[in-house]
Amino acid sequence: MRLEGRAIRVRGLVQGVGFRPHVWRLARVLGLVGHVANDGEGVAIIAWGSLAQLAEFATRLTTEAPPLARIDAMEQAAHTGAAPVDFTILASHASAPRTAIVPDAATCPACRAELFDPADRRHGYAFGNCTHCGPRLTIIRAIPYDRANTAMAPFAMCATCAAEYADPADRRFHAQPTACPACGPKLWFEGGAGDDPLADAAQMLRAGAIVAIKGIGGFHLACDALNPAAVALLRQRKARDAKPFALMAGSLAEIRRFCDVSPDAAALLSSPAAPIVLLPLRRGGEPLPAGIAPGQDHVGFMLAYAPLHHLLLAARDGPLVMTSANHADEPQVTTNEAAREGLAGLADGWLMHDRDIVNRLDDSVMALAECGPVPIRRARGFAPAPIRLHPDFAGLPPVLAMGGELKATFCLLRDGEAVVSQHIGDLEDAAALGDYRAMLALYRNLFDFTPAVVAVDAHADYLSAQAGAALAKECGARLVRVAHHHAHYAACLADAGLGMEAAEGTLGLMFDGLGLGPDGTLWGGELLAGGYAGARRVGGIVALPLPGGAAAMKQPWRNLVAHLRGAFGAEWLARAGAVAQHLPPPATLNVIERMIDSATNCPPCSSAGRLFDAVAAALGLFPQAIGHEAQAAMALEACARRFVAGAGAYPAAEQGGVISWGPMWGALLGDLAAGVEAGAIAARFHNGFVDALVRLTAARAEPGTRVALSGGVMQNRIVLDGLVRGLRKAGLVPLAHGQVPANDGGLALGQAVIGGLMANKGVNL
Ligand code: ZN
Ligand code: ZN
Ligand code: FE
Repeated sequence: MRLEGRAIRVRGLVQGVGFRPHVWRLARVLGLVGHVANDGEGVAIIAWGSLAQLAEFATRLTTEAPPLARIDAMEQAAHTGAAPVDFTILASHASAPRTAIVPDAATCPACRAELFDPADRRHGYAFGNCTHCGPRLTIIRAIPYDRANTAMAPFAMCATCAAEYADPADRRFHAQPTACPACGPKLWFEGGAGDDPLADAAQMLRAGAIVAIKGIGGFHLACDALNPAAVALLRQRKARDAKPFALMAGSLAEIRRFCDVSPDAAALLSSPAAPIVLLPLRRGGEPLPAGIAPGQDHVGFMLAYAPLHHLLLAARDGPLVMTSANHADEPQVTTNEAAREGLAGLADGWLMHDRDIVNRLDDSVMALAECGPVPIRRARGFAPAPIRLHPDFAGLPPVLAMGGELKATFCLLRDGEAVVSQHIGDLEDAAALGDYRAMLALYRNLFDFTPAVVAVDAHADYLSAQAGAALAKECGARLVRVAHHHAHYAACLADAGLGMEAAEGTLGLMFDGLGLGPDGTLWGGELLAGGYAGARRVGGIVALPLPGGAAAMKQPWRNLVAHLRGAFGAEWLARAGAVAQHLPPPATLNVIERMIDSATNCPPCSSAGRLFDAVAAALGLFPQAIGHEAQAAMALEACARRFVAGAGAYPAAEQGGVISWGPMWGALLGDLAAGVEAGAIAARFHNGFVDALVRLTAARAEPGTRVALSGGVMQNRIVLDGLVRGLRKAGLVPLAHGQVPANDGGLALGQAVIGGLMANKGVNL
């Protein structure tokens, strides 16, 4: 038989995922000869066989790819030369692989089966993993990705593990974190009297206590999710008023006891990323204690994603609260010492182990909108997998984008790919800022990255912008400042895979808390045009005073005053009716009015977030203070959900592209006076908001125009679904986020793309 030679190049996430052994096994099954190796571009294969064999080989390389692989491209060329006698795996080439860090992955079905198989040597072992699953980003200290550079360095492999590691036919071939009870990390329990850590922890949980659990990317605080007293105790100890707790279950069936789980939701929950998915509470389903997600009609569920979780949940009946272990809004703790000291007043017991968490990695959060899954928080399971951009961005200089201030992430852009860091947190927190700096250093090392351009938010006070300015100086890179909402706009376009030309004719609805606009005022409710190359404001919502500046971010009643005054002028208080009960005493109101009149610390601001806060306050939802930025808006959304269909919509006014809310406030106060229930009022507000935005957009767009939807307000699913439906009905094409969050967690991606274009010759922004 005549042998044909083929050189096959595979690009994508193909290193560190078991791709070479996959190639090797397939070649042997099909009787091919040749070799496979990793190099700087991905996986390189030389194979000889009959034409039929090679064709089947190429097909099955893709269809039977390992679970964590992502094949972006496969190229084939004829190859001449002498065929070897067998098929081998070659050691990595000199051109160093640089894409070898894949995201952490939930326990795979094979490892899970071993965990519960009494005959298996890893039966009941809390740290088993293989090439298809286990910790990755959370354990790495530096490249190359070898065991010596990970938290597994202190654990010398036993002979059996070493044999598995060296055998290409084994699922653990070159699995750096592989371990077994003989050689791997150990589990123990602190705070109990027994000698079985899992049984002790389960026992304590059953008794209604709170247990700190060391996981993959940080510690969780756990309690019995079906015990209202335990949930209340946890909430009291965390001093967390209303922020929902996430839950963990052992199976989809268990989640279905409480929630509706659509096929899309089931696929997300069971994916290797195993994110928290926001699920609607099921009508007629088993009730959950009200303290889990106060005022919400959705709860966040995830499936067990580490052997430790599987074992713990198997020892119980029912889900656990699994909330990040921290005080208030600090990042979750990662070290045993910090857990013992920092969680002393929070936990009653500690389920600990001796594998270090090198890099903190929060649980990711996803929601399901009509247009598909949307990320709310992108961390474990997603970072640091690169996001493929449109080929237009392949030639840009390397850009490091520093992100925003809240929900901070950063982004490395190179070779047409964007590596967005995991969600790091609010940089005002010293620990989060420390993590941000550490992650910057780690990612630059992992991806061997030196920026030619550093892109930052136009708001020079952002700590990320300051860090970026310093870094640009240090690297001799060009510093580029990007307006906040232009970055949101570009992030959404890049997320949707649009190139330069397609983006030019788009519009963008950018609605969020606030950010610095290019005119130096505070924006947060804008209709933009121009795409990557520019962000012209062609419409938006009215700018109103932000009484007290930053204070208005924390105290919604201030925005209620600004809005009522904007709607009704000096007579506003007389019109306020029952709403006045949510306002402070007259003396305080006088001070605020004088501030507004004299424009003292009342910057004009077109923020949609503050509009939502004002409406929530009018309904008595958190009028005095909010603990986190979206708290009032989330409560308003939950309150409205059940009423949205058929509730009708409040009117809004529009003049010259500026939407104002006078008619809405008039109708809302009328409804309140007439005793209409809060849910219907909240729904009419949402519907009216959506209608006003759709009308504004449709009046300025040709049929078929793409409309990018971004900014934190797009995480409100009534708004997002309403806009998607309304824009489609108007003959337009909405673009929603699917890979990075619409909130400030997605900013870095937009900054990176714009920064690269600005630095590139010929593009002048
Ligand atoms: Zn596995
Ligand atoms: Zn071992
Ligand atoms: Fe924003």
